[in-house]
Amino acid sequence: MRKVFDFHGGIHPAENKHQSVRTPIADAGIPPELIIPLSQHIGAPARPVVSIGERVLKGQMIAEARGFVSVPVHAPTSGTVHAIEDRLIAHPSGYLAPCIVITSDGQDEWAEHSGVSDYQKLETADLIGIIRDAGIAGMGGAGFPSAVKLSVKSDTQIKTLIINGTECEPYITADDILMREQAYEIIEGTKILRQIIAPKETLIGVEDNKPEGIAALRAAAQGTGIEIVTFPTKYPSGGEKQLVEILTGKQVPSGGLPSQVGVVCQNIGSTVAIFNAVVHGQPLISRITTVTGESVHEPQNFEVLIGTPVQYLIEKAGYQSEKNKRLIMGGPMMGFTIPDTDVPVVKTTNCLLAPSETELSTPPPAQACIRCGMCAEVCPASLLPQQMFWFAQGKEFEKLEEHNLFDCIECGACSFACPSHIPLVQYYRASKAEILQMRRDHEIAEQSRIRFEARQQRLEHAEEEKEAKRAARKVAAKQRAQAAEESGEEDPIQAAIERAKAKKIAQQAGAGEESELEKLEKAVVSTSKRLATATTKLEQAKAEGSDLVGALQTGVDRTREKLTAAEQALKDGEQRLGTHSAEQPPVDAAQAAIARAMQARTSEASLSPQEKARLDLEKLQHRLQKSQAVLIQSRENAEEDKVIDALESTVARLTEKINAVQQQLNAAEDA
Ligand code: SF4
Ligand code: SF4
Repeated sequence: MRKVFDFHGGIHPAENKHQSVRTPIADAGIPPELIIPLSQHIGAPARPVVSIGERVLKGQMIAEARGFVSVPVHAPTSGTVHAIEDRLIAHPSGYLAPCIVITSDGQDEWAEHSGVSDYQKLETADLIGIIRDAGIAGMGGAGFPSAVKLSVKSDTQIKTLIINGTECEPYITADDILMREQAYEIIEGTKILRQIIAPKETLIGVEDNKPEGIAALRAAAQGTGIEIVTFPTKYPSGGEKQLVEILTGKQVPSGGLPSQVGVVCQNIGSTVAIFNAVVHGQPLISRITTVTGESVHEPQNFEVLIGTPVQYLIEKAGYQSEKNKRLIMGGPMMGFTIPDTDVPVVKTTNCLLAPSETELSTPPPAQACIRCGMCAEVCPASLLPQQMFWFAQGKEFEKLEEHNLFDCIECGACSFACPSHIPLVQYYRASKAEILQMRRDHEIAEQSRIRFEARQQRLEHAEEEKEAKRAARKVAAKQRAQAAEESGEEDPIQAAIERAKAKKIAQQAGAGEESELEKLEKAVVSTSKRLATATTKLEQAKAEGSDLVGALQTGVDRTREKLTAAEQALKDGEQRLGTHSAEQPPVDAAQAAIARAMQARTSEASLSPQEKARLDLEKLQHRLQKSQAVLIQSRENAEEDKVIDALESTVARLTEKINAVQQQLNAAEDA
């Protein structure tokens, strides 16, 4: 007989388990609608890979894992995706969360799938991959992804693999019935886990209040080397750290994991799910759930499709709503009251408890703490619940953390033992939630601070660079002016500025009027061109008998009107500005403008290549002078860097072009 150990504290509440194990596991069937939350596990919610209206098959992946700590979600039956939206889910605070809603078609048609019966040939990584792809997350607790738990670091030596068959919470018998009916699957699943972990010993721990389950497991485990270890019933033996201590005598350090003392734990339900995934290729789409309490006519265990609404399931057990005041998901110690019977069963739903008022009465009002110390006596985590209660009331979160609040497994033993009926565990749950929220807020604020400081640094650095450039330009300008003065030569830059100023004054004196006439001429020319184009299109449309003739005719008429107006405006402008004497007959303005443009082109065309190059050179030099003047003026005015940079690159470009044209010209003249 293997030696077993005891842990500190614990209680012995009424078990109330026998009611739900009198009949075999029943099939809950297929509800008309299934609501599948995207987050039924610890970690990132899954991401939908189906769309509304799409037909899905049983076992088909409908949402993929989003990251290492995440698992995919699969369709529990065949049907149509009715919605992807927020729905009420099973949570103490009754909040909404993203769900995929499937309308079942009743055919229960499987997607193609296949398993590996000789899994012994598979590599560890392949087995873990199958488990991850099957969407398996711990089915007895918080829903930690099994594949992550099994991915033990190479430098961590695991001595003991423990399969947790304790099921210590009153009323719940989902694991007990699995042991009775599916012992073979449990043992095969354990063998798969043993292959992955390669421990020195493999234990299945079961409380001694499940004799049928223990006998079935022992029979199935014969010759496998898997040891079925039993120990006295005490709540909460099923807590992971408590079970490790019972079976190995080792204590998991505060804030630590069982792997730190060489142990990996898995739940019975998860072990069966792993067997089904590897050997049959079936993802996790259903689970065993106990439906019990005096408000159901036939307490029993059901195989339930994930996503089944609670109302549908409890009706299968003969729910008597008139007897029931509150419906609890989980057991009486660690469960929580659900806000509505529309919420769905998820991967971690091990029990639905519908007690009558006499069976689980509403707790009386809390009294003052009498410092009896009972809470500390029963605490399996060796905490100081009374002190933690004071700190929680005063929101002294630092002190709560110093008192190892996060080692509290929320078993409720302290509340159960408290003679003053203080709901101690509720205070710890609320404090944990507040601390976690504060940590998240702090993390977000810290990230924002880091981003802000990095931006400030970038801006300061850029400003320093700008300042240095400005200073360098000023020094260079000063040096140029000084050099020009010393050599007695004309400062070419100052001269360029003077030329630019003179030109500007000349333009202001009269060029304004000239440019107004140019604008009017341009308007006439462009409207003439538009009229010609529109007329051509109209002619084509008429020739083809097109339906567009009417619309095109309207366009032509309008353009012609615009041309008449533009010509009139030009005439008026010419008379006003005195370009034409009263005796001179007014010429067609459009024709005149076109003629001027043609003349310019013709005269350029008549030039020899050398003459043309000289003309280009002159034009470029003129542009360079203008640009240099503007650049110097901008430097004097200490304009923005981007303006200076643009002007400098224009000057550089023009200088390059001038050099190129000059070279061409020199070559032509030498030839
Ligand atoms: S059990 Fe209740 S009354 Fe007793 S010390 Fe703890 S909190 Fe106070
Ligand atoms: S709920 Fe927390 S503090 Fe209370 S007995 Fe359980 S572990 Fe201890």
